[in-house]
Amino acid sequence: MTNYQSSIINYELVIIGAGPAGISAAFEAEKIGLKYIVLEKGLIGNTVYNYPVGLTVFSTTDELEFIEGDLKPAREKPTREELLSYYVRFVLDNDLKVQTEETVLKVDRIAENHFRVISDKGEYETRNVLFAHGAMDYPRKLGVKGEDLPKVHDHFRETYPWVKKNALIVGGGNSAGEAALFLADEGAETTLAIFRKDWEETDPKQGCIKYWVKNPLEEQLKKRCLNLFFLGKVVEIREKDIVLEDEEGQEQILENDVVFILVGSDADLTMLKNLGVETRSGKYGDVPVYDEETFETCVAGVYVVGHFTNARHIKAAIEVPRKIVPEIAEKLGRRAPPPATTA
Ligand SMILES: Cc1cc2nc3c(=O)[nH]c(=O)nc-3n(C[C@H](O)[C@H](O)[C@H](O)COP(=O)(O)OP(=O)(O)OC[C@H]3O[C@@H](n4cnc5c(N)ncnc54)[C@H](O)[C@@H]3O)c2cc1C
Repeated sequence: MTNYQSSIINYELVIIGAGPAGISAAFEAEKIGLKYIVLEKGLIGNTVYNYPVGLTVFSTTDELEFIEGDLKPAREKPTREELLSYYVRFVLDNDLKVQTEETVLKVDRIAENHFRVISDKGEYETRNVLFAHGAMDYPRKLGVKGEDLPKVHDHFRETYPWVKKNALIVGGGNSAGEAALFLADEGAETTLAIFRKDWEETDPKQGCIKYWVKNPLEEQLKKRCLNLFFLGKVVEIREKDIVLEDEEGQEQILENDVVFILVGSDADLTMLKNLGVETRSGKYGDVPVYDEETFETCVAGVYVVGHFTNARHIKAAIEVPRKIVPEIAEKLGRRAPPPATTA
């Protein structure tokens, strides 16, 4: 049996996840010279990798880059491919210590500021753990009959398999809007099933469909390349059709080949909860409790950043580690070297 108390602490910071938040944290740790490692269950920038192929993201370059002026897309905003390539190159060019295809399974607290991180490939003893594991683990479900059929997807990847097929998208946010647009543009018989309040919502803080997605969707509606179904509820998904209830409570059956349920996803907080991190109920589920300044949880040495905190978007996911990693280093008695001077 391992004697945890006498085991060697070989890391100062273990970062879980290599999305924008984890990469930003790694860059700061690298600059300071911390002994750190990033463990990533998928690929570098895995969430961006899973964006629809060819998507143009909604943020501008200054909200997405680690160093000002570094991301140079062909047009005003980068595509998924340009953004992913930038994140991958950034990790490689800066020699950031990222281990991909390694899933963190468990984090044990051994003593004050002493943790053991257990992955499917190894074990790491560390002073601090930074959870940057995003909020993509649990795609939300409708809980209706037929949701487990193979034609039902919780993720939209690309349009071409669905040309000339009857495609239905359920959802009221930008991801659902984007998928509907891709499908309608490329010749699928597309229906967007959406609550009227979501379609009519214009406050971006409510996660509505952004105007640059909604305007072209309205064009597709005018051209009759898209159908809008004001949803009461999804009743049942069947092999060849889908039963919906409209906002008046009338049941309708639509012919259907593929369904995309794009209603958001939630983080897996199991590891944090097992460490004793407090959670509270958020709009959709539990969220971790943490200090809004330091992003440290009630367990000293356990930090949270990125998509499952209030700093959700990429801009904040990148900015927060710039502040907190130097603070973590300072607590360890480490300081960032002064910036290099030019002769
Ligand atoms: C289609 C789409 C378009 C979007 N467009 C924009 C946009 O234009 N602008 C914007 O600001 N936001 C956008 N977002 C949201 C954006 O992707 C997130 O805000 C961002 O990815 C958050 O970064 P993060 O580093 O916190 O989390 P993520 O990027 O989700 O990174 C978390 C990483 O942790 C890894 N991980 C999870 N669990 C484990 C584990 N147990 N062990 C090891 N690794 C683990 C995951 O594989 C993942 O790579 C978009 C989202 C979608 C779905």
